Amino acid sequence: MLTINEHYLKLQASYLFSDIARRVAAFQAAHPDVEIIRMGIGDVTNPLPQACIQAMHRGVDEMGTVAGFRGYGPEQGYGFLREAIAKHDFQAHGAAIQADEIFVSDGAKCDTGNIQELFATDVKVAVPDPVYPVYLDTNVMAGRTGQFRDGRYEGIVYLDSTRANNYVPALPEEQVDLIYLCFPNNPTGSTITREQLQTWVEFARENRALILFDAAYEAYIRDPELPRSIYEIEGAREVAIEFRSYSKSAGFTGTRCAFTVVPKECRAFDSQGNRQLIHPLWNRRHSTKFNGVSYPVQRAAEATYSPEGREQCKALIDGYMANARIIRQGMAALGFHAVGGDNAPYVWIEAKEDSWDFFDLLLSRAGVVCTPGAGFGKCGQGYIRLSAFNSEANVITAMTRIKEALS
Ligand SMILES: *Cc1c(COP(=O)(O)O)cnc(C)c1O
Repeated sequence: MLTINEHYLKLQASYLFSDIARRVAAFQAAHPDVEIIRMGIGDVTNPLPQACIQAMHRGVDEMGTVAGFRGYGPEQGYGFLREAIAKHDFQAHGAAIQADEIFVSDGAKCDTGNIQELFATDVKVAVPDPVYPVYLDTNVMAGRTGQFRDGRYEGIVYLDSTRANNYVPALPEEQVDLIYLCFPNNPTGSTITREQLQTWVEFARENRALILFDAAYEAYIRDPELPRSIYEIEGAREVAIEFRSYSKSAGFTGTRCAFTVVPKECRAFDSQGNRQLIHPLWNRRHSTKFNGVSYPVQRAAEATYSPEGREQCKALIDGYMANARIIRQGMAALGFHAVGGDNAPYVWIEAKEDSWDFFDLLLSRAGVVCTPGAGFGKCGQGYIRLSAFNSEANVITAMTRIKEALS
């Protein structure tokens, strides 16, 4: 008899986006003349930078020639891309990361989901609340949790991110082994200071733990005092893995390219307490289960580092950030506590009522769709997320409508 992995049965069906879709469809059916504006989207809306398109075209043309054809590439990514990443994303910011510590992949979702495979099933996992669901669900699948009760999985340490701590969780008061952090944060848009990140690195060193640092929104950091990489923090190389992606930085959500950084010194322990390096383990996993990102796409990713590419990516992000500013200022002017939007494309707004009630209010009175914070975890209850991934015109119209509806 074939039995299933019963840990999958513990997973909570995510009704978040289907619930949103159902409520939006019902409203639209009742009010066919209202042009609904979707401000809940976690996906970019602007087209790819021209530099990336041109590089991708050249890559495709090369593949059609005998001299330029490429079959399987290195699983870890082509040298040209890994070198460019090490130089521009890390060394330029004072983080000593080398090309052979970079693993190119088809997404930070896959990487943040797959990394837990390297660790024992009885390690203690800490995840932020509110949370990007991938961190949690992949650990449920692997059997690192008990049942879901009262809105939380047993066995997980939840790192509460609340107004009281400015949406940067406090250090756990118990032993944890695997710690997920995401800054700039999805969904709250919050950021972590150098000093705060230093305390996490020290915690990981003292507790023989590991930090999984999701920096998918690094490109949105505007404040020069904020760390762009965890490797800018002293001592992080032994205790941190960092995840980056071209999805939000260059609009690659449908193109697919990302990378994970595993420094050579990064360590875990075997059951005898001996140090084991993670780099060879991840290299083995990656090359066993993954066959590389397509050549034209890696060329497109490389183009984000050319002078034109950098300028075009910056313009892309500047556009979203201008939207974010309009959203945050608009909500603040209406008397709402709103954070994020200054170094992230998301604005996190205290609803002063139930997340879903506020969702319904914005939909019915303003024709605007948000994301109810409750969908991201217990601490998200009473909040909504508004996304800057939209056209400026839509954002301005949405904020005008919200203002009229609420004042
Ligand atoms: C969008 C996003 C990513 C990027 O995922 P990809 O698979 O690279 O598209 C990673 N982490 C968070 C928190 C995100 O919001």
